[in-house]
Amino acid sequence: MSIEQENELGEPTYGAGKSKKDFSNANWKISTEGSHYFRILPPFGSLSKSGRYMQYEALHWGMEASNGWKRVFPCVRVKDNKTKMVKQECPMCLRIDAKREELAKKIEQLKKAKVDFKAPEAKKMLQPLNDWLQRFNVQRGFFLNAMSPDGKIGRLYIKIKCKNDLEIAISKLVKDGYNPVGIEGVWLDFQRFGLGRDDTTFKVEPVQETVDMNGVKAKVVKTHKLTPDLIAQVKASSFDLGTFYTQLDYNSVQALATSGENNSEIVDSIFGVPKTSASEVTEEEDEVPVRAAEPEEDIVSATSKMVNTDANMDDFLAAFNAGKV
Ligand SMILES: [Zn+2]
Repeated sequence: MSIEQENELGEPTYGAGKSKKDFSNANWKISTEGSHYFRILPPFGSLSKSGRYMQYEALHWGMEASNGWKRVFPCVRVKDNKTKMVKQECPMCLRIDAKREELAKKIEQLKKAKVDFKAPEAKKMLQPLNDWLQRFNVQRGFFLNAMSPDGKIGRLYIKIKCKNDLEIAISKLVKDGYNPVGIEGVWLDFQRFGLGRDDTTFKVEPVQETVDMNGVKAKVVKTHKLTPDLIAQVKASSFDLGTFYTQLDYNSVQALATSGENNSEIVDSIFGVPKTSASEVTEEEDEVPVRAAEPEEDIVSATSKMVNTDANMDDFLAAFNAGKV
């Protein structure tokens, strides 16, 4: 039995690639350039058995409850991993695809008419569609339980690009004999370079400390052991990432996707009527980017702060011109 199993924590597996209800915990994302230090925590809750310490999510944004709360739900598009064929469509994705097509057509029209995209008449034509696409953004990335240097335990969101770099760092550490996400884990430095959608890169490296070894200064990987006290804290404060978001059934997603932009009645009927006023939510927006509406009912709300704000119109046009859209 491993030290993780003895402590009723999942044993992390490397290279593979609802719930705790205390939503007052920290939620982090790597949104600024430079270093961000975290210690990833062992698999928890429904992920323990599989050893997964990361959970992939494709989250649909843009739905608003009657009090202004943002309601988020996971995409229901199901693809066959081998053939990449879509086995079940997502009505919301189809609606987004149609809007993208509409925008692409308008851009094509403007190009044909040789209108500068930055000209006021072009912006007037494109902005509403771009705003819509930003509101109904799909946030794709991975969530992990992590600890910050000040000892807080919370949920860390990383983009797909960053996850790839994390896996490279993890596999190097495993090769060197570390168990970076285990009880005797490692501090990691998540470095972000650039802020734009296309020019952002990440690098993840173990934090190194200088130690004195018989008078010789040496750099070693900074490890972090979860003591029994810390293990108790980790178990009390980790999120069950596998069940964090409410999975909606196909019909509910279809109802949301086909109900227009001012559909808070339908949003309330699917997610539940909020019991708290919007002003109380706003107060916490800066500190708590994702929060629960009514945790006992497993309903999750979040502020727009978590939306990928990287995507602006200039980025979109640059991507379009580069043939990426
Ligand atoms: Zn979808």
